Amino acid sequence: MGTITENLQKIKQNLPGHVKLVAVSKTKPNEDIMEAYNAGHRIFGENKVQELTSKYEELPRDIEWHFIGHLQSNKVKYIAPFVSLIHAVDSLKLLKTINKEAVKNERVVDCLLQFHIAEEESKFGLDWKKAEDILTSDVYKSLSNVRIVGVMGMATFTDDKLKITDEFKRLHRFYDSLKSEYFEGEGSFKELSMGMSNDYLLAVAQGTTMVRIGSTIFGERNYQ
Ligand SMILES: *Cc1c(COP(=O)(O)O)cnc(C)c1O
Repeated sequence: MGTITENLQKIKQNLPGHVKLVAVSKTKPNEDIMEAYNAGHRIFGENKVQELTSKYEELPRDIEWHFIGHLQSNKVKYIAPFVSLIHAVDSLKLLKTINKEAVKNERVVDCLLQFHIAEEESKFGLDWKKAEDILTSDVYKSLSNVRIVGVMGMATFTDDKLKITDEFKRLHRFYDSLKSEYFEGEGSFKELSMGMSNDYLLAVAQGTTMVRIGSTIFGERNYQ
């Protein structure tokens, strides 16, 4: 494991120029984030609301903060003033709340729809039907201050590269179908958030536009 700066450089060499790198700094101290910041990095991802808001308060204002975790509706208000992108939207209720808080803050909040692509049982993530139910609803059509800019998914945690690749292909197909059926001609719908430390090269091969990488940059996380 190199320094944070070296790790970032190495990963960026592996990424095509158009692929954005979200440096996942969850559980990591501000000093680590500042090392990446001083190396020129500006996009960071967090998955806990309280941790994100305190880091936002303490760190430079030109950081672009992404929320990558499961977001509870009652906590949207804390991040709505500043968050750049919410990666894991998987219900109309959440979208409605994000819209309400975005209106209060007089801004438009960008979101990704999270699809469930892994084999693992999870409460989180949409299937095609649920995504369509959201996008065809009158409530969704009335939301003025949220903008869906793409999709996000997490592959099964496995060494089976074919399986991971298949799951990323499925997510790409969901993206293509949404694009042609609901977001045709909307240039802002362009993000495919897939790929983490152990599978980001497979995600690059499947056309990711945004990888979310934590431990390969900052080292293993210690959870208390
Ligand atoms: C933690 C996390 C990541 C980063 O995981 P690494 O394996 O450390 O790269 C990416 N996406 C989500 C949604 C996460 O929660």
